[in-house]
Amino acid sequence: MTALTTNIQYIKGIGEARAKSLQKLGITDLRGLISYFPRAYEDRREYRRIADLVPGENACVRAVIASEPKLSHIRRGLDLVKLRVVDESAALDLTYFNQSYLKNAFRLGEEYVFYGKAEGNLLKKQMTNPLFEREGANQITGRIMPVYPLTAGVSQSLLQKSVRQGLDACADELSDILPEDVRQAHRLCHIRYAYENVHFPADDEALSVARRRLVFEELYLLTLGLRLLRERRDAAAGQKCENVSLAPFYAALPFTLTGAQTRAAEDCARDMASERAMNRLVQGDVGSGKTMVAAAAVWFAAQSGLQSALMAPTEILAEQHYQTLAPLLEGLGVRCALLTAATTAKTRRSILAQLAAGEIALAIGTHALLSPDVRYQKLGLVVTDEQHRFGVDQRAALSAKGENPHLLVMSATPIPRTLALMIYGDLDVSLIDELPPGRQKIDTFAVNSTYHKRIYDFLRKQVAEGRQAYVICPMVGENDELPDERKAVAAYAEKLQKEVFPDLTVAPIHGRLKPKEKDAVMRDFSEGKIDILVSTTVVEVGVDVPNATVMLIENAECFGLSQLHQLRGRVGRGQHKSYCILVSDSKGEDTKQRLAVMTKTNNGFTIAEEDLKLRGPGDFFGSRQHGLPSLRVADLTCDMELLHESRAAAEQLIAADPALAAHPALRGRIRELFELNAGAMN
Ligand code: ADP
Ligand code: MG
Repeated sequence: MTALTTNIQYIKGIGEARAKSLQKLGITDLRGLISYFPRAYEDRREYRRIADLVPGENACVRAVIASEPKLSHIRRGLDLVKLRVVDESAALDLTYFNQSYLKNAFRLGEEYVFYGKAEGNLLKKQMTNPLFEREGANQITGRIMPVYPLTAGVSQSLLQKSVRQGLDACADELSDILPEDVRQAHRLCHIRYAYENVHFPADDEALSVARRRLVFEELYLLTLGLRLLRERRDAAAGQKCENVSLAPFYAALPFTLTGAQTRAAEDCARDMASERAMNRLVQGDVGSGKTMVAAAAVWFAAQSGLQSALMAPTEILAEQHYQTLAPLLEGLGVRCALLTAATTAKTRRSILAQLAAGEIALAIGTHALLSPDVRYQKLGLVVTDEQHRFGVDQRAALSAKGENPHLLVMSATPIPRTLALMIYGDLDVSLIDELPPGRQKIDTFAVNSTYHKRIYDFLRKQVAEGRQAYVICPMVGENDELPDERKAVAAYAEKLQKEVFPDLTVAPIHGRLKPKEKDAVMRDFSEGKIDILVSTTVVEVGVDVPNATVMLIENAECFGLSQLHQLRGRVGRGQHKSYCILVSDSKGEDTKQRLAVMTKTNNGFTIAEEDLKLRGPGDFFGSRQHGLPSLRVADLTCDMELLHESRAAAEQLIAADPALAAHPALRGRIRELFELNAGAMN
């Protein structure tokens, strides 16, 4: 018996060399190995008589070795082994390239099964490099075989063999983690059967039974984990704030908050004034005014003497938040500081001292806020902007700097509800479903590059009216192999400046500029010193220049729908009518469909749903984005029913046994899965 935590190197038939290869796929222990699921299957069940082989089609053949294999050296680096096999219908010639050891692998007169693609014609049949095994072995022929995702240096057959060894090694070890009553109530197969058949399905039905079980288990564990996280946090006392009225804050604003903003702000205040720590997600489409909700929370915390940290995903965004928030909050007696990688050592030292002394009430920054030398006197609130860019672990690192601080997460990525339930299942949600008044629909056009002249004329007209424009190119630099120079920001900016808009100010900005340079360009743009900003997607997130009214996106086919929506959200932020122009010469049906969605709706949620339909949930579920365990088998586009079923089961269990005290194995497994949150799960 082999434990699931056994290093694969010690599994019979694997050994050091293979273990090393498998490591490239992140597979280190037995559980990792058997949980490395196929991405597809190859049906090798079809047997043919040699005479019935169809050129171009794969099939198995039962045949006897009719000739001694012949090895020939064609030239250096090219060996051939040739042999002839026969069945009752015809002969088949086999050729193997560069596998000279096969010369001694076959016994004359014995029967083997070969699987490969038939070649040749009616008279002469052949196969090149067919797979083979002894008749009756049924290991790699005559069955459905898994097809695994690969990486350089790891072959399909290496994985197939290793997984086989792994399954054999843990045959008795796989104990069922699902409570027996749950397994029965939901008609789920045993775990042993599930693993065996998800890798080496006996037939199609076995595969679907196996898959159903694994999907259920995966979603069940995820739901339970999220619920546990939540229970744990709900149980921990927060830093209770005084329940002061937000009126003084509202009064200091240059505008009236929308109903949705006010509701979100009041939600935060109520949370923070309660006994428990706040864990709230503020979700609102681009431009819905989430920053002011954060400001309200920061102000509220400061009234109780608590410090806040606001973490943004980019320098530009941190800087911008600082520029928006500092004048407002300082006017209300809340001292703010900006701390980024660009902050000079001297300023940084001074800020750190003031943070530690509690003299600064709000620190705004990027990841720099996470470095160990940043200490707070009394950190009570942590706000993360565009949280999908931060892992749960990073949020946790920041939280560790205070005593169970309140958490406020702001996200503009409209996530379809079902996914939100999974991803943010541990947070309360305030939805900002209303835009500030005066916002107009952003007119969106999808055109091809023959429209460039007209587009440029339009940009010129907008600039003449005092407005500004963004132009987005997908790539940085001139050395990429893509033929279109527009893909290079620098080159395109120069071209626009010299050839199209010699009388206007055009400037490039991209991720490879130093933070200081980037900030300088962004500042010039927001101060109106730049008419046309040529950019990569660095402006995708959160940047706010209300005077910009045109978003021109070149090679729009390079972007996903949600990304296009984020980019478009950079305009239409002020009182002026705004436009988004998507340029693409792609003829692909996919692209056309995607761009058409953009022209039809401005609603981020609709777009997210469409995105999900067109692309699948992979993007939402890249685990790096949120720190939750990634889904290995479940596909939320087609496993919705199972999602509901497993959630219901999980809720039931939690209701009966909130701490999973009676289910230690289940609990242990969840803790492993939520590795990043291990601290929180203990
Ligand atoms: P997002 O939700 O995308 O982060 P922001 O907080 O950046 O949106 O707000 C977008 C713009 O709308 C900013 O210029 C902000 O000053 C403005 N704004 C926010 N709330 C209101 C409001 N209630 N009335 C008018 N303008 C507002
Ligand atoms: Mg924002």
